[in-house]
Amino acid sequence: MLPPEFSEEWLQRHRRRARTTQELIEGIERGDTVLLSQAITLVESRAERHQQQAEEILAQCLPKAGKSMRIGITGVPGVGKSTFIEALGQEILGRYGRVAVLAVDPSSSVSGGSILGDKTRMANLAADKRAFIRPSPTSGVLGGVAGATRETLALCEAAGFEVILVETVGVGQSETLVREMVDFFLLLLLPNAGDELQGIKRGIMEMADWILVNKSEGENRARARLTQAQCNNALHLFPKKASDWQPKAQLCSALQQEGIADSWQAVEDFYAQMRGSGYLQKLQIEQTEYWLQNSIEQRLKQLFFSNPQVIAQLPALRQSVLDGTRSPFRAADELVASLLKSM
Ligand code: GDP
Repeated sequence: MLPPEFSEEWLQRHRRRARTTQELIEGIERGDTVLLSQAITLVESRAERHQQQAEEILAQCLPKAGKSMRIGITGVPGVGKSTFIEALGQEILGRYGRVAVLAVDPSSSVSGGSILGDKTRMANLAADKRAFIRPSPTSGVLGGVAGATRETLALCEAAGFEVILVETVGVGQSETLVREMVDFFLLLLLPNAGDELQGIKRGIMEMADWILVNKSEGENRARARLTQAQCNNALHLFPKKASDWQPKAQLCSALQQEGIADSWQAVEDFYAQMRGSGYLQKLQIEQTEYWLQNSIEQRLKQLFFSNPQVIAQLPALRQSVLDGTRSPFRAADELVASLLKSM
């Protein structure tokens, strides 16, 4: 028996603390999900020492990233994303060794609660050793949605997951950010034909590489078909994608596990076409450029809002803007000028 101060829990915690950057890197390269999780926690941390460590890990891992299939999945809450991912996960594991699911949840920053990322939503997949499920917080992370999730994605790639699914609620702007970090973007819809395509913004449909009308079994079938037809009409009206890929709408029932293999086939066809045309490489260059751009913006924001001069002057300047004695542009210029002076 261990004395209480050396309890299993203590050892666990101690072991966690003792991980060096090198150990984490080696763990990720081995595909060790415990160490991968710890590295992701560093990526998500606001503490400066964690950020430095995270940057070192990322720098070492990046050369090993870039080989995974990255699929974005979006849709309104209740459309069946987690049910679908459960089913798709099994399909993927029938073909590949491992799958990761990252859930980007914009609701957590507003309500404090979480719609996505709850492992009970994908109980079977969560219990499978070949699957790794991880919620990706969008609040409290300096890099914002794009920062932490993009970096987490890179770590999962380095850990050798052949397929990474990035799930996001189809509201707000998170899906736009997710779009920039995945190769293939899948939109799930409900069989609500005629419902003005369910208030789904045209922009989201335009971003999609594939649309699935879920819950299309039984008495929903006819409505689902109508929705499918409407979607296909809409998709043909959009300008042709630079990739030359033609998105389509299909039916599926995540609950009955119908149409799942077909949806995965669309993903395989997409990759085959993109690899053949060389577009995949182009897409990945664009994604890296976007990542760089986003990182620059985040760093600048961080620098600006943590600057003592800016912090000191902001309240008075804000007030003068509200009083109408200064324009917002003037105030912004003055703040930037004092930031530059203080450096
Ligand atoms: P999410 O919020 O998008 O992740 O949706 P869930 O996967 O949690 O599904 C919401 C509800 O729809 C649950 O009660 C599911 O059982 C149900 N559901 C999911 N897929 C289907 C389907 O294909 N057919 C039917 N009838 N119900 C489904």
